[in-house]
Amino acid sequence: MVNSNMLRSHDPNVINPYLKDASNLSGGYADEVVFPENEDDVIQILDEACRTRTPVTIAGNGTGLVGARIPLGGIILSTEKLGGLKEIHLSSTGHNYAVTGPAITHKELQKAVSLKGLLYPPDPTEQNAFIGASVATNASGARTFKYGSTRNWIRRLKVILSTGDILDLRRGEFVANKKGHIALKGSRNTFELNLPQYPIPEGKHSCGYYVTPGMSAIDLFIGSEGTLGVFTEIEVELIHKPEGYFSGIVFFGREEDAWRFADFIKNESLKNRTSNINDTIDACVIEYFDCNSLKLLSSINQQIPKNAMSAIFFEQEIHIKTKKKTTDKWFQICRKFDVLLNKSWFCESSNENTEFRTFRYAIPSLVNKTLRQYNQAKLGTDFTVPHEHFFDMLELYRSSLNNSGVKHCIFGHIADNHLHVNLIPQNDREAEKGWQIYKKLVKQVIGWGGTISAEHGIGKIRKEYLLDMIGKSGMQEMAIIKKHLDPCKILGRGNIIPEDYLNN
Ligand SMILES: Cc1cc2nc3c(=O)[nH]c(=O)nc-3n(C[C@H](O)[C@H](O)[C@H](O)COP(=O)(O)OP(=O)(O)OC[C@H]3O[C@@H](n4cnc5c(N)ncnc54)[C@H](O)[C@@H]3O)c2cc1C
Repeated sequence: MVNSNMLRSHDPNVINPYLKDASNLSGGYADEVVFPENEDDVIQILDEACRTRTPVTIAGNGTGLVGARIPLGGIILSTEKLGGLKEIHLSSTGHNYAVTGPAITHKELQKAVSLKGLLYPPDPTEQNAFIGASVATNASGARTFKYGSTRNWIRRLKVILSTGDILDLRRGEFVANKKGHIALKGSRNTFELNLPQYPIPEGKHSCGYYVTPGMSAIDLFIGSEGTLGVFTEIEVELIHKPEGYFSGIVFFGREEDAWRFADFIKNESLKNRTSNINDTIDACVIEYFDCNSLKLLSSINQQIPKNAMSAIFFEQEIHIKTKKKTTDKWFQICRKFDVLLNKSWFCESSNENTEFRTFRYAIPSLVNKTLRQYNQAKLGTDFTVPHEHFFDMLELYRSSLNNSGVKHCIFGHIADNHLHVNLIPQNDREAEKGWQIYKKLVKQVIGWGGTISAEHGIGKIRKEYLLDMIGKSGMQEMAIIKKHLDPCKILGRGNIIPEDYLNN
């Protein structure tokens, strides 16, 4: 039924906020923004847009870093009125889960489930991201080291295609056969899909359509960056909240000491994780700050030791009975790896330490703010490499950046071999130089079998590097999937797949 009350606006003042995201990419434009309130509204918009071949860009909360929600014409479909939390299901025996609409932020979801003693493990640094969008980008976070990315925690997804079909996708249903073929049944049509053949690197990965042998169709949609359908309902798995956390921000006099510390903690944690012994080292978070990150952070935090050249933020879940033994082990390791113990910060708490998380959040925030001041777009890497190249990666970043003449810093998810090199150009000439460095790094990372986007996605700014990774044939295979599920080719134009591949 047509909802004449649905808010729709052609007013530039209403449209303008949707022409940007945290990438600071410019050039977005659109004729209209629409605010559907339910699935019928979404179907109405998509039916209309299909008839007129009008592009539709789905918008979450605008914290994306690759310009994926920035429209290149047509309609912006804001998801913000599509609803949030519907139900939290607590079970004494089976799985705990929550059912939600797309428009709840991570912060809100975490707060709601926490009141029931539960935890949603994925924790992207940006807690204002909508859950629907974090599924669309397969977001990860600091805790991905222990719990994996968003993909691992999505049990069911309701998707509306541009054909007006509603798909209700549960993990374990619509499974690919040995030849990579999936038959998908929608509310209007059936779709016969042949999955792409390109290999997917192990570990964190948010680089185009996901494929793996025997996968469920749900996985094709997770990470599809608004190009295949609108997610209207999501069922996420939850776990019981740990009894407490021991966390720290530890400082080092040399960058290499932090590298070795992180490598040691990571290996210990992976070894101990399966042991079921409560007092062993088992970090869920290991995050890195290089010397330049600390310099930037010093502008807002005077407590950072002057002689610190690097830092690690760690977090471990602890059990009340064994916490003393666990924390003693951490201090022993800190001494062994030359942590500046007297100047480092530690905390034991029943909650994740929000102050330390705020400190971690501040670094990408400061970088993005500085880029806005210089009117420059985000120029940050999101690469991971296989573990055997961990130290090569660190040396490569250092040698490529030192003496480059472009301001930069390196921080992030060191436990997953996933550091964000953020270049901070102050003019277009420096930006040009920065992109040259970026391209050189892409080449080496792909050569090592790594991925060019571990969590932010491809969006509008990383398509040429995805092409380097999966080649023309991989891109063509993705375009075929896209054209099957979105035959009018209206959704997420400009994201992931270059136009040429859609027009052939
Ligand atoms: C300071 C900072 C730190 C960050 N840290 C992390 C981090 O640790 N890990 C990480 O993964 N990311 C991180 N990000 C990036 C960003 O938060 C994520 O990409 C997030 O998932 C985007 O959510 P959003 O609601 O802002 O989506 P938007 O930017 O609005 O949209 C992102 C994409 O999702 C699509 N989309 C949105 N809603 C739907 C829907 N309902 N159905 C289908 N498609 C949809 C859009 O079309 C677009 O392609 C960070 C960003 C900032 C600014």
